[in-house]
Amino acid sequence: MSIETETRSDDLVQPFRIDPFALRGRLVRLGPTVDRILSQHDYPEPVAAILGEAIALAVVLAGALKYDGIFTLQTKSDGPVRLIVADVSTEGAVRGYAQYDSARLGDLTVRAGQSPSVPKLIGAGYIAFTVDQGEDTERYQGIVELVGASLAECAQHYFRQSEQIQAGIKLSAARSGPDGAWRAGGLMLQRVPPEGGTPVIADDVEDGWRRAMVLMSSATPAELVDPELPPRRLLFRLFHEEQVRVFRTHALEARCRCSRERIARILRSFPAEDIEDMGKDEVTTVTCEFCNTRYDFAPEEFVPAASA
Ligand SMILES: [Zn+2]
Repeated sequence: MSIETETRSDDLVQPFRIDPFALRGRLVRLGPTVDRILSQHDYPEPVAAILGEAIALAVVLAGALKYDGIFTLQTKSDGPVRLIVADVSTEGAVRGYAQYDSARLGDLTVRAGQSPSVPKLIGAGYIAFTVDQGEDTERYQGIVELVGASLAECAQHYFRQSEQIQAGIKLSAARSGPDGAWRAGGLMLQRVPPEGGTPVIADDVEDGWRRAMVLMSSATPAELVDPELPPRRLLFRLFHEEQVRVFRTHALEARCRCSRERIARILRSFPAEDIEDMGKDEVTTVTCEFCNTRYDFAPEEFVPAASA
């Protein structure tokens, strides 16, 4: 293990296993990464809090999958926060944004130490998970109705529906860093799928699963985002009697995939009459929904005739 991964205690995924009970888990810690993503927009506090949890959820779920590409979590719903998108690449680049209606948010607040309410903020709708491994590969998508008081409960509902993985999830997002910076954390525990055949589940393994779930739920929202509590110390605090083993961490960072060239390509792909309309303006401005970067284009950059 390198010194860099040993000393890093923030913006990472910490995988772990509890071998006696065939359990696998991940602890996600987001510091400057989530603060940067949330600060790129002027989100009201409850929107930032639920987007922070969604980003932690995307990272913790992505870690459960073997893929090479982009994992995306998206909610679409009828509440004040009508859309949330969070994605994470295999390399650990994370981004996300939320669309919301300020008028409908009213004076909604999130109580300290509690997860933002899905029914109040997001409302009724769906949550979808997509794995995109590039062109010429099949996209995997899972979609389920939003059922649960919090995003963690909605994700657990998804797992119950899919019946493939038994998993428990905890999420937290709060301003708890230096100078009130945003932080987020996630903890996921899952049963390792048995290899081949129908396994006979021993009673002690069942007990171990229940016990581990109880221990996991004893982690407080404050512990999940505490900058003074290193991830490994938190895991040992929770599972020290269960012989928890930790593995090499994966680093995370806030990084958007937008670029001038990519957006110019999208503009050029619009229908001819739209391009003509845009070409009448001196400048066409496109703002990236994820990172809020503003790109200005002169007509000759995307109107074929204008360059003649
Ligand atoms: Zn961007």
